[in-house]
Amino acid sequence: MSDKKYSLPELTYGYKGLEPYVSETQLTLHHQKHHQAYVNGANAIIDKLEKSRKDNSDIDIKATLKELSFHLGGNILHTFFWQCMAPSGNGGGGEPSGKLAEVITEEFGSFDRFKKEFTQAAAGVEGSGWAVLVYCKVTNRLFIQQVEKHNVNIVPGFAVLMALDVWEHAFYLDYKNEKPKFIDAFWNIVNWSFINKRLESSM
Ligand code: FE
Repeated sequence: MSDKKYSLPELTYGYKGLEPYVSETQLTLHHQKHHQAYVNGANAIIDKLEKSRKDNSDIDIKATLKELSFHLGGNILHTFFWQCMAPSGNGGGGEPSGKLAEVITEEFGSFDRFKKEFTQAAAGVEGSGWAVLVYCKVTNRLFIQQVEKHNVNIVPGFAVLMALDVWEHAFYLDYKNEKPKFIDAFWNIVNWSFINKRLESSM
């Protein structure tokens, strides 16, 4: 089989790095088990596609591609989510600056308004999903989106700048059923400098 495969990216901080907002146990499990499962899932489907082409055998294309979209979306969004966070007070938390601060104020009126809308978007995700901030190059606008699962409600071509995982697996060990507490905690570990760089490279 091909070695053009996905692999689990390493975190740029330690598993205790996001404490007390995300515990070592929660982060370890999320990264090593949940994220790894999407990497493995995507690779398994790639193998299945390659094998069916090699054997010239038929597979259920509709079901396979749906599954591929789910696992690839999971891998890409998680890879991105880890980079959107940094240890509190050491790259994480505070407020955005530079171009990002400008664009947020232009779009939302203020950082507080953006924070409120993003928080509401994250809290309002039904079932498993994500809140993401995206940038549209055509209109030079920011949009907030609620992604269902890992792959539904994504607009093709928009650059994802910031992502917050609100699947239960992201917070249940630390916050049980209290998703709003996890969302509040997230603001203390947001890596604005990374998100600003993403914006600058997307413009
Ligand atoms: Fe997750």
